[in-house]
Amino acid sequence: MSSEAVIDSTGALLRTLIRERFAGRIALVSAFGAESAVLLHLAAGIDPGLPVIFLDTGKLFPETLAYRDALAARLGLTDLRIARPDPGLLGIADPAGSLWRRDPDRCCDLRKVMPLDAALAPFDAWISGRKRFQGGDRAALEAVEFGTDWRIKINPLANWTEADIDAYFARHDLPPHPLRAAGYRSIGCVPCTRAARAGEAPRAGRWDGSGKTECGIHNSPSFAERALA
Ligand code: SF4
Repeated sequence: MSSEAVIDSTGALLRTLIRERFAGRIALVSAFGAESAVLLHLAAGIDPGLPVIFLDTGKLFPETLAYRDALAARLGLTDLRIARPDPGLLGIADPAGSLWRRDPDRCCDLRKVMPLDAALAPFDAWISGRKRFQGGDRAALEAVEFGTDWRIKINPLANWTEADIDAYFARHDLPPHPLRAAGYRSIGCVPCTRAARAGEAPRAGRWDGSGKTECGIHNSPSFAERALA
C-alpha cells in the first residue's frame, strides 16, 4: 500500500473513532517522542480538542518537555492532560528516585502505569502510536486491542512503516524531537534511554541490557485488577 493510501485510511479510521464511534469518550496517549508528531498531527486535524494524555514520570529529558509544549502549541491542541505519579506513593516507594536501578518494573508501575490508569478513568477507549516495525512484542501488534481492563485500545499506525513516518513528517513539515539529531530513535526516561547504534532495532536503546522491553502500560493488568490481586 502506498504512503498516501496508508495515510488516508488512518485518517478515516481516526475520524470515525473520534467524531462518531467514541465521541467524547476517547483520548490519545502520547509520549511526545521521536515519532509522536504524526499521530498528534492527524488527530489535531480532526479535533484539536481531543484529550491528549502525557505521562510526566519525573524522569524525562528536558528536551521532551520543551518539545511537548512547542508541538502542542504548533498543532493547536487544547486539552493536553499531564498525568504524574502520586507523590505520596513515590515518597514511600522511591524516596531517592533510584528505584529504576533496582526494580524498573516497579518504577514504571509507579511512574507510568498507575498514573495512566487514573488519567484514563473517564474514557472508554484510547489511541496509542505503536507500530509493528518497532519490533519486539510490537511486531505482531493488532490495530484494535481489548485491554485487560474493559477499555478498547486502538493502534491506528500499527501497519505504518518507517518510510511512511518519514514521508508524513516531510509532507507536513513537522518538527523532529530535538534528540533525533543525537541518534535517539525511541525516547523515554533519561536513566533508561540511550541513543540507537547503527543497525539496531528502533527501541534497542530502551532499558538497555536489562531484558525489559516495555514499560507496562500496554501489557499490564488494570489498577483494579492489581488492587484485587
Ligand atoms: S522508564 Fe525507567 S525511569 Fe522511567 S518509569 Fe520506567 S524504570 Fe522508571
